[in-house]
Amino acid sequence: MLKKNDVIHLNITSATAEGSGVGKTEDGMAVFVPLSAVGDRLEVRILKVKKSYAFGKIERILSPAAARITPDCPHFAQCGGCVWRHISYEEECRVKQQRVQDAVARIGGIDAPVKPIIASERVLRYRNKAQLPVGTGKNGKPVMGFFAFHSHRIIDCADCALQPACFADVMRITREFLAQTDNDIYDEQTGKGRLRHLYMRLGEVTNELMVCYVVNGNGLKQEDLLVRMLREGLPNLKTVLINSNREKTNVILGRKNRTVYGGGVITDKLCGLTFTISPFSFWQVNRAQAERLYAKAREYAALTGAETLLDLYCGTGTIGLSMAKDCKRLIGVEIIADAVRDAEHNATVNSICNARFLCADAPQAAAQLAQEGARPDVVILDPPRKGCGETLVQTIGSMSPDRVVYVSCDPATLARDLQYFAAAGYRTVEVTPVDMFPRTAHVESVALLSIVY
Ligand code: SAH
Repeated sequence: MLKKNDVIHLNITSATAEGSGVGKTEDGMAVFVPLSAVGDRLEVRILKVKKSYAFGKIERILSPAAARITPDCPHFAQCGGCVWRHISYEEECRVKQQRVQDAVARIGGIDAPVKPIIASERVLRYRNKAQLPVGTGKNGKPVMGFFAFHSHRIIDCADCALQPACFADVMRITREFLAQTDNDIYDEQTGKGRLRHLYMRLGEVTNELMVCYVVNGNGLKQEDLLVRMLREGLPNLKTVLINSNREKTNVILGRKNRTVYGGGVITDKLCGLTFTISPFSFWQVNRAQAERLYAKAREYAALTGAETLLDLYCGTGTIGLSMAKDCKRLIGVEIIADAVRDAEHNATVNSICNARFLCADAPQAAAQLAQEGARPDVVILDPPRKGCGETLVQTIGSMSPDRVVYVSCDPATLARDLQYFAAAGYRTVEVTPVDMFPRTAHVESVALLSIVY
């Protein structure tokens, strides 16, 4: 029997959804080993033993997987942001592809082709958004960066390989500002102190930079100086905001924003449309991959101009609006009121007149629409990680759209929902994984379903 502190030899044969490698002992017990790679032969120290599985850590790499590379970030392994910087991007895509294939076949029991993953052209600096916690280090100086895995310990970093270079400039200027002023830093334990988070967004096409400071209170001391320093150091600075969050909570943003420079928003382009982005707006963090994902969704929707399109979980309307000119009518449903307002604004700005948006729970709104006799030709779904669930699938089935396009950020709940769709008379035609988040464990997918007559 395996016990704590045993040192064993292990071959890593698969990876978990969180990015841990997995190997099996001779007795068939699964051992999860963070930072390992499929193909590694390892000496592993057992840290914890459960009934049917165990956790271990690498003591020694006996024989490395062929796909191993030297991590290109000094914070990798401590920082909770990336899990895959020690394997090639090709191998990462293979692991993600496998994960989607396994979920569709094993969880969903669905026999549908999983197309090759749409890989990201950019593996470095692809993000356009960062929310960095600010804390106080052992030496009393401010630290800012990412939380360590499963922890609230801040890993102090000067730059992040996933973020645009100008975010590192904002971090540097913020540190200089803090050194020159007596703004204190928020302490999660006591709920005291001022500066909590540094939040940045970049319009990639427009190159417009938004900097937002989340504070426990109304503002920072010497905000004029801060704005001057940011303006001097950042030629693309568009706006600076202060967000007030006085709650003792893990939720990053409070409800109130105050603009201290510029107009409080930035703009960017997606699929040929212009979007206004506020600190609260949902906006895809990897713009180039979002365009590829939406293009695949558009291909699956196969609109001719005559259709009614229902876009459930529509956020700020981006997917539906990117297809509005190809259909007769667009109805978007989203539960967050601010996002619905953004969606309406986005429709107006882009001269889209055939769209309307409902602020409602998607399953409830769909049931209401079905009751009113709505017959959408195509339904798009983009639910959060927990998926859309059986009730909504049945309601969609009752409206008998020709096609359903399901965008998912969790292969497991996608697979479960595809099974519900099968029961409701929909065949999964194909699934395409899309890598929106290189170097992290996340993988997006888009599935096409078609009614079975
Ligand atoms: N399709 C959008 C947003 C997808 S994110 C885009 O690609 O930009 C998922 C969205 O579902 C979020 O905006 C979230 O607020 C919304 N949401 C979560 N639960 C919901 C529910 N029960 N009903 C409707 N919308 C919901």
